[in-house]
Amino acid sequence: MSIPYLTELGFVNAFTTRVGGISQRLYDGLNLGLHTGDDPEAVIENRMRVARVLKSPLSSFVAGEQVHGNRVAIVTEVDKGKGATALETALPKTDAMITEVPGLFLMGFFADCVPVLLVDPISNGMGLVHAGWRGTASGITKKCIEEMVKNFNTDPSSYIAVIGPSIGPCCYYVQENVAKEVEKSVPTIKDRIFYEDKGGYYLDLWGANRAQLIGAGLIREKIFTTCVCTCCMSQLFFSYRATQGQTGRIGAFIGRVQCE
Ligand SMILES: [Zn+2]
Repeated sequence: MSIPYLTELGFVNAFTTRVGGISQRLYDGLNLGLHTGDDPEAVIENRMRVARVLKSPLSSFVAGEQVHGNRVAIVTEVDKGKGATALETALPKTDAMITEVPGLFLMGFFADCVPVLLVDPISNGMGLVHAGWRGTASGITKKCIEEMVKNFNTDPSSYIAVIGPSIGPCCYYVQENVAKEVEKSVPTIKDRIFYEDKGGYYLDLWGANRAQLIGAGLIREKIFTTCVCTCCMSQLFFSYRATQGQTGRIGAFIGRVQCE
């Protein structure tokens, strides 16, 4: 799926599903994660299929290592192709990336963690965040906006954000230690991101990341949440929670076509 509003602004964007790939068994369909135990050749074929649909060579895509940290990489022309076909070349210890380079695609891989796409129509800069509970607790989405402001020299009130398919508050039951860590990142809306039940909490990672975006200066009306829960819809999306961990990864993509 893609977000027409971003497309109209000239940003090629996509969230993939399980549909359309060649992976088998636990990874059935369009698994894009090389770190999942799946056959790497199948994963690369799946990635090439996405690249074809997005009308760009896989060598123009860039991925981070994704370690549930909060490092934001500033991606430039020299990074093109890093992590596209091998884990070893992915940007090390990177869970968020920003770039202004046209013709370059940022990509991330997800199975319940929250993808956030960011675009700045003023500078034509863009960003992509991988935020699980650890990344959310360490404020990665807020940090990514701060890096965009610093590097693109623009006002975050012009930015647009999309919170993609990921585990929803309907399914994300967590223990108190997780709740406490995430609460630190957005203390003011604690009541709206936790729903207490049976000694634990249902955590709203969409709400927590939305709060970070607003806290970093984005306007409410420019933040869109797909509200698609990957755990509820594990037939269509890969879900870590729904499969106790052994599964594939969907992808999130953002880029800008290079003008001739
Ligand atoms: Zn759900």
